[in-house]
Amino acid sequence: MANIEELARELSARKGPLLVCTGAGVSLASGIPTFRGTDPGAVWTADVTTMGTRRFFEQDPVQSWRWYLGRFVGLEGKLPSAAHHAIVALEDWKRQGDRLRNFILVTQNIDGLHLAAGSRSVVEVHGSARHVRCSRPGCENAAPLGLLERDDVDLASFRGAPSEATLPRCPACGAIVRPHVLWFDEYYTEHARYQFPAVLAAAGQATFVLFVGTSFSVGLTEALLRATRERDVPAWSIDPSAARAPDGVEVVVEPAEVALPALVQLLTAGAS
Ligand SMILES: [Zn+2]
Repeated sequence: MANIEELARELSARKGPLLVCTGAGVSLASGIPTFRGTDPGAVWTADVTTMGTRRFFEQDPVQSWRWYLGRFVGLEGKLPSAAHHAIVALEDWKRQGDRLRNFILVTQNIDGLHLAAGSRSVVEVHGSARHVRCSRPGCENAAPLGLLERDDVDLASFRGAPSEATLPRCPACGAIVRPHVLWFDEYYTEHARYQFPAVLAAAGQATFVLFVGTSFSVGLTEALLRATRERDVPAWSIDPSAARAPDGVEVVVEPAEVALPALVQLLTAGAS
């Protein structure tokens, strides 16, 4: 286990690209429950792996959409936390220091709070709650390139009376639309906007990787760790639950909304 002063020292000493990877823990202070955390609202139950799948959507689009609307409603009105704002400051600090495109933020969250906070170099690698897309292969609004704003489709009718007849439809072809999220039975390469090749390229160039609020249980963190180990790049994690960090990852055992503002304060004060 390490502390925030050591992290600040290590970060200051490293030139070159910084990759930050955030998970649900970064949005916890915004009132959004995590999937696998130890917070009381954690929603990681058996039905997530069943319902959060393409298979389930194809079998029962009405139930699938009811479940997602429930999740989306839970995101409404939520605001960025001190953790999101600190990551914006971290990006500013890094850009000022090297004056190059040397910062990338990869988030597993679909809540859009990094963008709301003002982060610029963000990849929403698991999709976003702001978007939907057509489920009919070949449609211009379908994967691998097509995307619709959620407001471009009629979700109000379904919300008012969920049924087969009120399912949200693609404005171009009339097929049912689906959430623009990576389902558990899908690949990162499913949609261009997940930008997975760019994430892998960034991981291959990063000289420091900082994980925040992730439980290291998705393919993304696996891939990033592999890239860091191959090149002997330092990997750190800010996570209140230290038990979950893989070997070789230095852990600061603190909540993101506490540790990140403290980190930024140390960095910008020139402490190194
Ligand atoms: Zn369509």
